This record gives sequence, structure tokens and C-alpha cells, in this order.
Amino acid sequence: MPPTPRYISSHFEPHTTQASSSKTSSSGYGSSNDVKKAISELSSSLEHGQVDTDPDNLRTFGSSENSYHPASPHAVIVRPKSTDDVVKVVNISRKYRVPITAYSGATSLEGHFSGFPTGSICLDMSGMDQILHINEADSDLICQSGTRWEDVNQTLAQKGIPLFFPLDPGPGATIGGMIGTGCSGTNAVRYGTAKAEWFLNVTAVLPNGEVIKTRRRARKSSAGFDTTKLFIGAEGTLGIITEVTLRLAPLLPTKVAMAQFPDVHHAVSAVQEILNSPYGAHIQCVELLDDNMMSAINAAGLVDKPFPTEDTLFFKIQGDDAGVRLTSDVVKQIVRRHGGSKFAFAATDRAAEEMWENRKYALMSSLAAHPGSRCWTTDVCVPVSRLPQLVYETKEDLKQAALRSTIVGHVGDGNFHALILFDNDDELDAVSAAVHRLVHRAIALDGTCTGEHGVGVGKKEYLVDELGEGTVELMRSIKKAIDPLNLFNPGKLYPDDSSKDSKSH
Ligand SMILES: Cc1cc2nc3c(=O)[nH]c(=O)nc-3n(C[C@H](O)[C@H](O)[C@H](O)COP(=O)(O)OP(=O)(O)OC[C@H]3O[C@@H](n4cnc5c(N)ncnc54)[C@H](O)[C@@H]3O)c2cc1C
Repeated sequence: MPPTPRYISSHFEPHTTQASSSKTSSSGYGSSNDVKKAISELSSSLEHGQVDTDPDNLRTFGSSENSYHPASPHAVIVRPKSTDDVVKVVNISRKYRVPITAYSGATSLEGHFSGFPTGSICLDMSGMDQILHINEADSDLICQSGTRWEDVNQTLAQKGIPLFFPLDPGPGATIGGMIGTGCSGTNAVRYGTAKAEWFLNVTAVLPNGEVIKTRRRARKSSAGFDTTKLFIGAEGTLGIITEVTLRLAPLLPTKVAMAQFPDVHHAVSAVQEILNSPYGAHIQCVELLDDNMMSAINAAGLVDKPFPTEDTLFFKIQGDDAGVRLTSDVVKQIVRRHGGSKFAFAATDRAAEEMWENRKYALMSSLAAHPGSRCWTTDVCVPVSRLPQLVYETKEDLKQAALRSTIVGHVGDGNFHALILFDNDDELDAVSAAVHRLVHRAIALDGTCTGEHGVGVGKKEYLVDELGEGTVELMRSIKKAIDPLNLFNPGKLYPDDSSKDSKSH
């Protein structure tokens, strides 16, 4: 058996949990005895099979193979089947002061669902995955929060309903987790993010055990402020979402195309001109893949014919035939004017699907091209005009740090991901420092530490820098009002005292 790589043991090793000692926690959370009592009451209140204390599962559910922040295993995993089950779990959590972390698709990237050191209840919502009603005439759908976005779209397609849900984060992500992180994806350039009105109404269980609905099904409402939004990007710290009404969009015919550019600066200026033209509304997605990413796709062996290894834009153009034709002509002209070459459409629907999959599976391609390496994915976002500077400076920085990386970006939104590879602990430390510099670079360019992946554990030290103490304090006040015992996903999102002043490496 090969030796365990050093970075796995030092960075994935759970912190010692107080749950395993008999001391009462000084943090105000339940002692190890309280955790035991909570587990026993959970077992007697729920059905057989809903409560899981298998040590391997507790460890797996308490950390993610896609993030390298400190993590602890959970004390217990609970699999609710209904909103009533969630209420029972929340009440037991409160009775014994045991923190509770919602877990769903487990695709988040910043340590969002890691366990809490005094012992936590992992609430695995992925089994609550039923689509409850489709209201085709009103273009909306009601589902449980564990439903995957891909299943929503597949179900609509199978039923021949020409509607779709346009938020498209990682493969396997679920509606509850997408609300948790305030996600978006490749479609955001046309349809906006989770913070647009794609979630009309949510059913949430609050830390006091109360069940609320934030709205009715009407498309718009000005009845008070937007309590649905309170939960979007809250990372499970304010409520557990159990049901959601989604707004749907009409499904339009789509063509996929790509073009190569001499550098990122030329590519971004072409995108700005295209989006600001009268044809901008036909652009569903525009994605940037840098030269390294294109060679990783080729090296991963996932394509029949290798792509040119230059900075490349992938487009999805939508509309009826005439709209797509006109838009394509304009895009082609603009691409050419900005030094782009080889603007080409996928010849068939299958080829279009394959072309797009190469973008969607960028992480897998980066890893497949470097067998044995691991990858730290990070996400920042800046005003679109600042993106070339951010990409240029970041590539130079990574080169100087001798780090291998690929870059992909939702370029129409100025959203940029660096996928930085490493093989050992020393390289992991260098990656962590490079990510820190990248985040500060983005904030200095009037951007954000996260465009779509959320804060979790990994980005909370940057919030004061980005938003200011007053805004962060407002978030803390809301949290304290709703969850005074700090039981819902503690340790995530809100900077704690030690990180109030953002650190600098
Ligand atoms: C290959 C890959 C590609 C990705 N691409 C994108 C992308 O393009 N755009 C993007 O935005 N993200 C992307 N992501 C990140 C990820 O897919 C998103 O963050 C997604 O929204 C997480 O959903 P999830 O169901 O996996 O949530 P989880 O990881 O299970 O949880 C995320 C957070 O939500 C909370 N939560 C989960 N369920 C509930 C609930 N029912 N009620 C309250 N809180 C809850 C959790 O406690 C946690 O804080 C990518 C990830 C991968 C691995």
C-alpha cells in the first residue's frame, strides 16, 4: 500500500472533539454527555436508519475532498424525510445545545459543511428530493430542498415541458445547497444569480423550531422586505430550507460556439462589446478558458480532436433561428475586430454538448491531466473591465510561485476561478498563500472574495476587508436575533474574533 500523502494527514485530520471527553464545553455548547443524550433522543424520535453514527461516514460527511480547511467529523448524521422530522432534530439540537449543519449535494468548496469540534448533528437533506408540483402555466415548480438542479431540468425535459431552471452550479448540487451558497454558474450572464428572483418562496425551519414560509406563489410581491433573500447565501446559519418554489424560464434553442484569442485582454474586450450590443440578450453564456486549461482538456484525453491551446471563449447563443443567425454574424465580426480567430459553431447537438461538457468538467480535466495531483479551486469576481488585469497579475504571481494552474471564468460577469494544483504539504502552503494574494488583488480591484462559491470557512477572514465592519456587524446582529445560541452551522460565514482584522501573509 502506498504511504498516505502528508497533506492528507495534516490537513484532513479532525481536530480532537470535546465530544469524546467528558468535560462540559466552556463554549456554551453541550458536553460530550449532552451529545450522547441528543443522539439517543434522535434515535428514539426518528425511524430506524435515519440516524447514523458510523465513524467513516461521520468523517466523510464532516469534510470535503475539494477543500483544505481544518475540519472535524460530525457526532451524528440524521436523514430527515419531512419538514416535521427537521423540526424534531432542531428541537433536540436546541435542548442539548448541539450544533446542527445542513448537508445536501456536498459540492460546496470552502469547508461549508465541516463538523463542529464539540460535536455536531449533520442534517443530510439529500433524501428530501421530491418534485412536488409543476405549475406549467405559471412557469414555477415546487420541490423539496434536496432536489438536484439537474433532476429538475431532466424531469421537465422528460415531461416535454419547454421550461428550465437556469442556475447551474456544480454537478450534483441541490436546491437547498444552492440557496445556502447563493450560487450561480455559466448561465448567470443571461439569467443572473441565486440572488435574482429564481427562488420565489422557501419553507424554512428556524433555530427556535418554528416553520415559516417566506412568500406565496405570486411572481412578484412588495409585501415587506425580502425574507426569502435572508436565506440566500446564509450557508445554513439562519434556517434549514425544506421546500422551495422555483421560478422557471422558457427553454430556447441554443447553439454553442468557440473562438481563440491572442490573450485574455482581447477576449474580455470582445465580450464587453458583444454584451453591450443590441444582440447581447441572445448570449446565454460566455466562458473563458485559458491556454493551460485548453491543454489540460486535450491532455485529459476527453476530446476526439485536440483544441487549439490558446485563451478561448466558449459561447452559448440562444433564440430562434433568425435571432441566432443575426447574433452569430455580429459576434463573429466583433471577435475578429478584437484579434480573435477560428470562431466556430459545434456542427451537431452532440458536438455542442461535448464542447460544453469540457467547460463544465474543467476541474475533472485539470486533475485528469495531472494524475496524482490535487486541486484547490478558488473563486473571485471583479468588475468585468478589471478582469484582464486580475488574470494577468495572477498568472504572473502563480508563475513566480512555481505553481501549476488552470483558469476558467464566467467572463461575462467578471467571475474568475483558478484551479491550482499541488502534490504535497509544502506546495499546499504555497497554494494557500497564492489564494490569499489573489483574494486581496480582487478586493483591491473593487471586487469580491467570492463571486459564487460562498464564504464557508475559507473566505470569512476577508469579509471585513471587503464589506466593512458595519456591514459584517449587521450580518452578526441578524444571526444573533434569529439564532441566539449560535447552533446553526457555527464557525462558517461570520468572521470570528480572531479574524476580525483580516490577516496578511
Ligand atoms: C466541479 C464543480 C463545479 C462547480 N461549479 C460551480 C459554479 O459554476 N457555480 C457555483 O455557484 N458553484 C459551483 N460549484 C460549487 C457548488 O456546486 C455550489 O456551491 C452549490 O451551490 C452547492 O450546493 P450543494 O447542494 O452541493 O450544497 P452543500 O455543499 O451540501 O451545502 C452548501 C451550504 O449550504 C448549506 N445547506 C445545504 N442544504 C441546506 C438546506 N436545506 N437548508 C439550509 N442550508 C443548507 C450547507 O450547510 C452549506 O453551508 C462547483 C463545485 C464543483 C465541485
